[in-house]
Amino acid sequence: MFLDEAVVEFISGKGGNGSATFHREKHVPRGGPNGADGGRGGDVLLIADHHMRTLYDFRLHPKYKAEDGSDAHGNKAGSDGKHVEVRVPVGTLVWEIPEEDPETPILLADLHRDGMSFKICRGGKGGFGNLHFVSSVRQVPTFAERGAPAESVRAKLELKLLADVGLVGLPNAGKSTLISRISAAKPKIADYPFTTIVPNLGVVSFSQTSFTVADMPGLIEGAHEGHGLGHQFLRHVERTRVLIHVVDVFPVDESDPIGNYELIERELKLYSEDIWKRPRLIALNKIDILQPEEVEALAAKFGSVLDSKKVFPISAVTGAGLEPLLYETVRLLEEAEAQPQALVLTPLGRETEPDKWEIIREGGNYRIKGKRIERMVAMTDLTKDEAVRYLHKRLLRLGVMDRLRESGADEGDTVLIGDVELVYEE
Ligand code: GDP
Ligand code: MG
Repeated sequence: MFLDEAVVEFISGKGGNGSATFHREKHVPRGGPNGADGGRGGDVLLIADHHMRTLYDFRLHPKYKAEDGSDAHGNKAGSDGKHVEVRVPVGTLVWEIPEEDPETPILLADLHRDGMSFKICRGGKGGFGNLHFVSSVRQVPTFAERGAPAESVRAKLELKLLADVGLVGLPNAGKSTLISRISAAKPKIADYPFTTIVPNLGVVSFSQTSFTVADMPGLIEGAHEGHGLGHQFLRHVERTRVLIHVVDVFPVDESDPIGNYELIERELKLYSEDIWKRPRLIALNKIDILQPEEVEALAAKFGSVLDSKKVFPISAVTGAGLEPLLYETVRLLEEAEAQPQALVLTPLGRETEPDKWEIIREGGNYRIKGKRIERMVAMTDLTKDEAVRYLHKRLLRLGVMDRLRESGADEGDTVLIGDVELVYEE
């Protein structure tokens, strides 16, 4: 089971209702309108936080709701609802699961940097009080606006475990040994439900920074063909920014280290050209079992095939040579970090044209679909004639009445907008 995926519901706060009230003063028979505005509903924000490592908490807490704005009372404005900030691990992808088509999630945001935030649900605006509607022709408005509805999003969060550095190499090259040697702090792998799939993941703390290293076993043994550990695991190392290729300098089967190196490189390229292209360091491991001259000769041989600056003789067992390797790793990571990457700050797949609307037939009825119009209707206090007239005027101005007539609407037909049913009248 993977727990690096979670389905979560986010709901913003709805806006508070405006009030329709009038001054009440001694000796003043009829005071002017003074109704205040309702408070704004809180937003729901997702924030990438490097302290978060899993999506496990979301399993226990699959619903987040921001506070509603409160209603205005007389001439006292309602207060704004509190926002909700939801911390997610760096590297979380946020998908919306559309109600009408749950099988086709829409990517909303890619929170791949610490501190990035994404407003997944916007709080509803507070409704205007009647004071707001005073005009030369409407000096005593008796109606107020209702608060705007909340937004809710059912989202799938998906975490690609961020291994900054991937280790590749033949079985027995010493990858696991290297990880346990350089991992300053072992992450609580036991907490990960995918322990068995991620056999090796370490957090390396070095030179005032830290990064994660993951073993990429199963690359060999035809992983690129989808056998064995295969893709589900490798998904987790897709974002690896640097690869360390671990080569056994003295394989027990007496195979040629350079030949072994080339074999793995071919395999890697077959699996993913994209991963293969990433910066690479070569760790010539187990130098403790060779004579220093032999190490030098082998390093020179690798250096003539590759860039010698990328070749690091090490011993994962004794720790020899690890420092220069780690320095260069950190340098490459910082270089990769400095590459400009698109920051996703706006929703990717969400409706971007709230003003767009259309009329569709629904049985014998007419439905008007459009975010702005639906909101306008939801914010209307339909128990007040004057509010309904005001709505009618706004719909006229938007051309809704004309289009209804053109679409063949007749006196008495039902017009649906959001949750509201209206009757069409000429
Ligand atoms: P992996 O399959 O790449 O993960 O390799 P392992 O880390 O499991 O190591 C395979 C074998 O090589 C183990 O017996 C290790 O003890 C041994 N080994 C790993 N690194 C070194 C090293 O630097 N020196 C020596 N002498 N043996 C090593
Ligand atoms: Mg291993």
